[in-house]
Amino acid sequence: MGKGSKTCEDCGGSCGPRTKICPHCQSRFTFKPKSKNQVRTSKVPFDWRDLKRGVRIKAVQTYGQYSGIFKVHRVHDDGIVVHGQDGYCFLYMGEDGISPTTGQWREPHKLELVK
Ligand SMILES: [Zn+2]
Repeated sequence: MGKGSKTCEDCGGSCGPRTKICPHCQSRFTFKPKSKNQVRTSKVPFDWRDLKRGVRIKAVQTYGQYSGIFKVHRVHDDGIVVHGQDGYCFLYMGEDGISPTTGQWREPHKLELVK
């Protein structure tokens, strides 16, 4: 792919940087507005058990989970107590399964390290 060119999300074809309509499939390019919450994160895998207090992490939205930017408070056996926009919350990091306390399905959060 040449410098400044972009890839069509619909057909995967490469187009010029200022193209508004894909020459391959005629699909229109949309420009995603940048979120205020956008941060650079590391895609390098890490062990959540090694997280230190005060480290910033991003939880990626999955079904019924917390998402957003959090600061690590304390690491437990099955998850992490973090501090976010709405105060303290618990990011479950254990196995998939039914919670014995709430009776609801739960699965580990997907986390990324904020750079
Ligand atoms: Zn296309």
